[in-house]
Amino acid sequence: MRNASTTRRQRSEADAIRAAMPNSGRHGKRGTVAISHPERIVFPGTGITKQDVADYYRAVAPWLLPEIARRPLSVIRCPGGAGGACFFQKHHADTLGSNVESVPLEEADGDKADYLYIEDERGLIELVQMNTLEFHPWGARIDQPDQPDRLVFDLDPDPGIDWKTLTAAAREVRQRLAGAGLDSFVRLSGGKGVHVVAPIRRGPDWDHAKAFCAAVAEAMAQEQPLRYVATASKAKRKGRIFIDWLRNARGATSVASWSLRAREGAPVAVPLRWEELGRTKGSADYDIARALRRARSLKAHPWGDFAALDQALPSLNALSGKARKA
Ligand code: ATP
Ligand code: MN
Repeated sequence: MRNASTTRRQRSEADAIRAAMPNSGRHGKRGTVAISHPERIVFPGTGITKQDVADYYRAVAPWLLPEIARRPLSVIRCPGGAGGACFFQKHHADTLGSNVESVPLEEADGDKADYLYIEDERGLIELVQMNTLEFHPWGARIDQPDQPDRLVFDLDPDPGIDWKTLTAAAREVRQRLAGAGLDSFVRLSGGKGVHVVAPIRRGPDWDHAKAFCAAVAEAMAQEQPLRYVATASKAKRKGRIFIDWLRNARGATSVASWSLRAREGAPVAVPLRWEELGRTKGSADYDIARALRRARSLKAHPWGDFAALDQALPSLNALSGKARKA
């Protein structure tokens, strides 16, 4: 149990966060965002309503916005709740709200299309009003969409893999990256797996970032072929952990830390300190209520000042020492 003064301090911090949130009451741009059908149950079998989802996102906005603001953003919208049909949306539409912005980006076919992004809490809540449950940003910002500023290794376990083995795999990715000079951080995806995230200094393009990530994954799969696989083929994943490096491609996205997942039980993607990983029981350890408590009681970001890290994308040679041992 926490003592009373801690609880009071946490409450006053939460109040301070709320007080800092814009809530001007004006309409249109900068106005308060009204939530329609606030009483609708969003997660079947729970009492979690659309209003609860909006309240959750308002409360975690100070943590979530730095993850997604001014990045091209894909959203998963579920107009019938998490148990109904959900769809993945990356393109802007005027109907999303007056604070949901658009940025023209080149598509794979060479044509331009308007992608969506948000700047602030109003845009966030407008997307929630439009039944967004999940937020999936690019690993790049809108001012330089062709220069990634973070790498994501998505560890996907085959159903036979136990949790301890998966957390050990995440630590191994961390070690390899450290060996190449990169600090990295861990997040529960809120689904089945774990993401290892490494910020990089902008400069190299997506192809260079992708080649580096592929090399990390392939080195691990080469050294421990019974444990790891670096190709997406389902057959090869049997009994193994797929180290998915394909998130590091132009246009690819990964779920944001603090995003809800449109899955049973309202799980949340949660950033952890590495020391916390060993105490977890699974990727969906944090449901909306637990994630909210965490967000309110956190005094510092579990990833420290990761955004201020200025680390260059290592060259492929930086990995070869470890890979040669295979
Ligand atoms: P888990 O731990 O269960 O693997 P996850 O977040 O790592 O969770 P998924 O939820 O399976 O993985 O997401 C797969 C990837 O595909 C994510 O990068 C997501 O941004 C992206 N994605 C999800 N739905 C679509 C879609 N309909 N179209 C394109 N990309 C999608
Ligand atoms: Mn995954």
